[in-house]
Order: sequence, then C-alpha cells, then structure tokens
Amino acid sequence: MISATQSNHPIAGVAMTGPTPAEFACARLRQAGMRVTKPRIAIIELLSRHPNPISIEKVHTGLNDRKCDLVTVYRCLATFEELGLVRRSFLHSGTCLYELTLGGRPDCYHVFCRQCGRIDPVDYFAVEAPMRSLEERGYTAISHVVEFFGVCPQCRGAAMRDQLTTIATRA
Ligand SMILES: [Zn+2]
Repeated sequence: MISATQSNHPIAGVAMTGPTPAEFACARLRQAGMRVTKPRIAIIELLSRHPNPISIEKVHTGLNDRKCDLVTVYRCLATFEELGLVRRSFLHSGTCLYELTLGGRPDCYHVFCRQCGRIDPVDYFAVEAPMRSLEERGYTAISHVVEFFGVCPQCRGAAMRDQLTTIATRA
C-alpha cells in the first residue's frame, strides 16, 4: 500500500477528499495492467507539488535522493502520457515540459516567455469554445494541443529600457 503524503492537492477533477495523486495514478496503472513502481510513484508525487509544467531534467533532479536515472524518468513520463496522467507541452526551444492532469483536463494552460522561460497560467476558457463547437458538430474523444508563447512584461520592460539607453547614448 502506498502511503498518502498529501491529502489536499489542487489537481482538477479530483475532489479534495478523493484519492491522492499517487493513489489515483496507482489505480490507473493497475487498470492498464502496469506495475506500480517506486520511481513511478515518486515522479507522480513530485509532479503533484509543481503547479507549473516542468522538464524531464527538473523531474530527475527533484528525485535526487532516489536511484532513478534519466532514461527511467523519460520512460515513466511517456507511460503517464499514454495513460493520460500527464500532459506534455513544448517550450519554444523544443524542450518538453510535463504537468500532472490525472486523466482530467488541466486546471489551466500556460504561456511561456520566449526570452526568459517564465511560465504563467492562461485560463481554460481559451480552448473551451472550440472544444464545444467540435462536440456540437458531432466530434467525440476530442484531444488538443494548445501552446501559448509571448514576451513577458518583465522582458518587454527590459527591452524598452535597453532601447531608451541606446537612444540616450546616441543623443
Ligand atoms: Zn520573460
């Protein structure tokens, strides 16, 4: 039996009094005929503590006290993605980031700053309308890939300051 390390968690679709992310993932793994291993549980628990998507490398570093190599982390995340336990998003650089969704829709989407890599939440409403419209047109089992990229206010501010400095030096 896996011990519950968290009773409350902000994952969408799972009631506060419901199973912990680890318990949910265990059930899903068993249902799919897969083994519940220590690295798998450790990764789910780690992801449940991160509100923003994180890279494979960050997952790996986060598991520092456990013997789990990068290939194992990669394989676990690929399995979780297949089972719908995590959602994969892509940074502008092509790096993959993972967030826990536990079979439900993500709580929100994220916008990635192209310059500093900062991640901010984007409301789920952003994709609700097209999803509904597809359902109305008779589509079922709809999946989607939505990524937002931009330049964050801080980077924009810095760029504007640089420009002003250049103008001032020229004058
Ligand atoms: Zn930025």
